[in-house]
Amino acid sequence: MAVIGCGLIGSSVIRAAREAGVVGEVAVADLSEAHRKRIVELGYADTVTGDVAEAVAGADLVVFAVPVLAMGEAARAAAGALKPGATVTDVGSVKGSVAEALSEALSADSVFIVPGHPIAGTEHSGPEAGFAELFQNRWVILTPEAREDAAYLEAVDRLAEFWRALGANVERMDTGHHDLVLAVTSHLPHLIAYNIVGTAADMEQVTRAEVMKYSAGGFRDFTRIAASDPTMWRDVFVANREAVLEILGRFTEDLQALSRAIRWGEADKLYDLFSRTREIRRGIIAAGQESPEPNFGRDRGKH
Ligand code: NAP
Repeated sequence: MAVIGCGLIGSSVIRAAREAGVVGEVAVADLSEAHRKRIVELGYADTVTGDVAEAVAGADLVVFAVPVLAMGEAARAAAGALKPGATVTDVGSVKGSVAEALSEALSADSVFIVPGHPIAGTEHSGPEAGFAELFQNRWVILTPEAREDAAYLEAVDRLAEFWRALGANVERMDTGHHDLVLAVTSHLPHLIAYNIVGTAADMEQVTRAEVMKYSAGGFRDFTRIAASDPTMWRDVFVANREAVLEILGRFTEDLQALSRAIRWGEADKLYDLFSRTREIRRGIIAAGQESPEPNFGRDRGKH
């Protein structure tokens, strides 16, 4: 297996695959010299290099785990060096633009491209942030190309098996649907968190000390999300512009309705909405995607 970009997700894939015993030799390519040094110290890989072509040579499975806007560049660096018949995947948070970038860059290589996205992560980044349990009971969405040949379908099945061995549940969908669903469940919540934390930081009448001191009132939970990697999230919003703007339009309308309800003292309307949303959290807990503990699973990722 070759992993290109060995940060939180790349290193978690390696750890989980090793623990599951589903990988032989591991090669890593990472641009960051400091990360490469850490990867060697942590003993993640058999070979660690700054050269993508060198890492992918001979690999049966290639996992691109770089920020979304770096996928094209990383794939172009791999082009021509891939083993014929290899499966090429990625873990990017946006699928439409990444799938396009991969198939464009690798059009001359006879490989099976199966874009993917593990819906699992933390606000930490870098090779030290990875841990083997990250994908346990989490979803991985694969967005296969519209190819029906048996060899390709077999490669998709093999990749799905790989993720299952790492503890994940696997779903398949098309790239557009993925990008819309994730705009609602992930991208918009991050945008809201970035905005709230930014607004609080800008408010002059609330001193910085008070924001920190009274943060347990709700603000604290947004700061965890707003501490997420700036490069990763810049790339997500640039790459998934259309879906995010569509969902943001809906959100803004609903916010206006809430604002009106508050202005006119429509207590029942507020109560109804807050009751419905409480049910959604209960549903997420029942689906095993969150723990009912009061710390909101904040301990996750400290492994
Ligand atoms: P990360 O911890 O920052 O790791 C990315 C690594 O890739 C860094 O070491 C980075 O080096 C390196 N890199 C950047 N460009 C490269 C290139 N062209 N060639 C080789 N290496 C390169 O990021 P991450 O959180 O693992 O995210 C990786 C991917 O997973 C992203 O596409 C993200 O959308 C997706 N994802 C993230 C999460 C999450 O919660 N974090 C969840 C699901 C999916 P530098 O630091 O020097 O740039």
